[in-house]
Amino acid sequence: MPDTTLPDTWDARAKSASFFGFTDLPSIEARGTVVLTHGEGPYVIDTEGRRYLDANSGLWNMIAGFDHPGLTKAAQDQYARFPGYHAFFGRMSDQTVMLSEKLAQVSPFDGAKVFYTNSGSEANDTMVKMLWFLAGAEGQPQRRKILTRGNAYHGVTVVSASMTGKPYNSVFGLPLPGFLHLTCPHYWREGRPGETEAQFTQRLAAELEEVIAREGADTIAGFFAEPVQGAGGVIPPSEGYFDAILPILRRHGIPVIADEVITGFGRTGSMWGSESYGFVPGAIIASKALTAGYFPMGAVILGPELADRLQRATDAIEEFPHGFTASGHPVGCAIALAAIDLVETDLLARVQALTPAFEAGLARLAEHPHIGEARSRGLMGALEAVKDKATKTPWEGHLSVSERIANTCTDHGLICRPLGQSVVLCPPFILTEGQMDEMFTKLGTALDAVFEGLA
Ligand SMILES: *Cc1c(COP(=O)(O)O)cnc(C)c1O
Repeated sequence: MPDTTLPDTWDARAKSASFFGFTDLPSIEARGTVVLTHGEGPYVIDTEGRRYLDANSGLWNMIAGFDHPGLTKAAQDQYARFPGYHAFFGRMSDQTVMLSEKLAQVSPFDGAKVFYTNSGSEANDTMVKMLWFLAGAEGQPQRRKILTRGNAYHGVTVVSASMTGKPYNSVFGLPLPGFLHLTCPHYWREGRPGETEAQFTQRLAAELEEVIAREGADTIAGFFAEPVQGAGGVIPPSEGYFDAILPILRRHGIPVIADEVITGFGRTGSMWGSESYGFVPGAIIASKALTAGYFPMGAVILGPELADRLQRATDAIEEFPHGFTASGHPVGCAIALAAIDLVETDLLARVQALTPAFEAGLARLAEHPHIGEARSRGLMGALEAVKDKATKTPWEGHLSVSERIANTCTDHGLICRPLGQSVVLCPPFILTEGQMDEMFTKLGTALDAVFEGLA
């Protein structure tokens, strides 16, 4: 029976029955929700027929755009063949086996092993459980602390939220005890007056030494880092950062986990962000672009040393008691196989080809008197707004300056994301040069309009 009490606009219907997460409620009260029906290349289209160039690839993940025929065909074919299965009890789909082989092959590891989840948060949670399991099995049950950095984003489950270095998690009473946050390696914002970038990097290395000495190396289970911090506001590390800190962690026997949920599969111009920064971690956390956003899936890709140690620990109790119902879902695996193939044969080269124009576009907009810093690596970038460029003074928080910029962009058919006082750009890898021009032109117009309004 039709429910005649239902409100009759998409906006009202969205608000009446959906509980919003990571959404500024006053903004949607004032501006309404955007309800989308489909996509074309890098564009998404809403229920009113309005088109938006999505300069954020959805949430960093839709690297092949919103209607890639090869990816939808991989999904359709696999749904027709075998639409679902788990990976428990020694059974798994053939697609799952093939994807593990493929991930091991494209990983920086010789002898990788892969464990599947449904999201990046779950993959980070799984990795922490693996490290805790390992510590107990190797006779070091006290080795449970996890090191991450301020501004890190590792997800929203209880453990991955504890790893995330954002103040908003205090509303949940998080982080849990034992999750320690080091200084964010953002020289422009965190550097002290008169401190060179090299001195800043050395200060962060010294901080790491101090934290390890204070806590005890044998109480620390692992160090997790995004090669480029994503949801923190696109923050590439300071010059020499990983070269300075990795030997310290290695010397103390602390595993290094690269959270490559954003940087994996080409975003920084290499297959892996860790590759862009010249290091091989102990394990890689993948999700987002793994399926080009066409299926929810995450993966822990273990390097050989952690894989061997975990295998020994598991052999001793005959079973690793962990897994998700949809782990290694055959449709997700079939899509991921097609997506990785696409990255290898086409998309990675496109990122490399587009990067100079992307950097030039950001640099041009950074000349604006109210843009304090442009930062990027590959096809992920951010512009940070400031009230005063010389002193790096931010705008008053109540002005919501980055939200104003993003809202003005939306009004002009461009989706980009406000993060702190920054605006983030991470377009799909299939972007054309013409679409890149459209992105920067619309953003430039929005910056002029917003800063003029604030002057
Ligand atoms: C998005 C993200 C996650 C969390 O992934 P979900 O699939 O949203 O749980 C973890 N780490 C990083 C670096 C991310 O960007």
